Amino acid sequence: NHRIRLNSRPVGAPTAENFLFDEVPLEAPGEGQVLLRTLYLSLDPYMRGRMSDAKSYAKPVEIGEVMVGATVSEVIESNSADFDPGDIVLGYGGWQEYSIEYASQLRRVDPEIAPVSTALGVLGMPGFTAYAGLLEIGMPKPGETVAVAAASGPVGSVVGQIANIVGATSVGIAGGPAKVNHLKELGFDIVLDHRSPTFKEDLAEAVPQGIDVYFENVGGKVFEAVLPLLNTFARVPVCGLVSSYNLTELPPGPDRTGLLMSTILRRSLTVRGFIQTEFVDRLGEKFMDDMSTWIQEGKIRYREDIRTGLDRAPEYFNELLTGGNFGKMVVAVGAQ
Ligand code: NDP
Repeated sequence: NHRIRLNSRPVGAPTAENFLFDEVPLEAPGEGQVLLRTLYLSLDPYMRGRMSDAKSYAKPVEIGEVMVGATVSEVIESNSADFDPGDIVLGYGGWQEYSIEYASQLRRVDPEIAPVSTALGVLGMPGFTAYAGLLEIGMPKPGETVAVAAASGPVGSVVGQIANIVGATSVGIAGGPAKVNHLKELGFDIVLDHRSPTFKEDLAEAVPQGIDVYFENVGGKVFEAVLPLLNTFARVPVCGLVSSYNLTELPPGPDRTGLLMSTILRRSLTVRGFIQTEFVDRLGEKFMDDMSTWIQEGKIRYREDIRTGLDRAPEYFNELLTGGNFGKMVVAVGAQ
């Protein structure tokens, strides 16, 4: 079993030295457990947080532990009545070729609905994050304007497409012309490139009606550009701040907290952070029903960025944090 473990905690962007590659013999599953062969490993921005020991909502990966991550796997050997060899399951196998997991922790993946890798993206945690955060906190109404960055990724692309389903105007922000073109294909009403030197002005010009929902995925200069455009009673679901995950200290500059707080006050803004797990029990099943239907009806489309070679996962992960991915970043480990 080839594995990738955490060797040391990164300072800034992760480097090869932060990871340890090794190989160990396969073990047999215990009572209630199954042995799984990883087909697809999900790479997600939250993993940067797990590599750090700063206090967070989830405990960090310990030094020497296998890097965590959601996986779509094939059951190889089963010690549970719930699964048979050959079944495809969603689990949390981490950055390795094989894993042993409790059957109770696994969800069966139906290959009839969509390719099984989508259980890590549009039909999985990122799609659910977009669904719950937008509908529960953003609460877009028909005719309102919904803006989102990292808009070609699995969270942002679903946010924009659900905004369209609701009858809102969708504003998608991404880095570079290829991604911006893709947003048009997905049906975003207004598209912008945050790498443009005139991005702030471009955005203000594109949304004279202002912004009613800003689904915050990135922070940094995108947030700075959005803040003055937020309408009275706008909602800001704070989902992620990927532009800052590799920062080692706050960016220099004047303290802008006063400006932020006075804008929240004067415009009666709702700024609400969330972790998607908060909504799983209440909305998980409804999400699967709605999303499967929308995919089958062609109302939600998705793009995956499937890479090969587990040993290159650290490199792929760095690309994810800096926009090198184009769609949901997935590593095909044992999948042909
Ligand atoms: P993506 O696949 O969209 O990848 C991250 C993207 O962020 C990059 O492709 C890049 O896109 C963009 N980005 C990186 N740096 C910057 C920057 N400085 N300025 C603007 N954009 C930048 O990721 P996901 O869809 O998986 O995740 C999106 C966000 O949602 C992340 O912040 C993540 O942490 C968060 N999240 C939160 C969850 C929760 O429960 N709260 C659960 C899941 C995800 P581009 O090239 O277009 O700039």
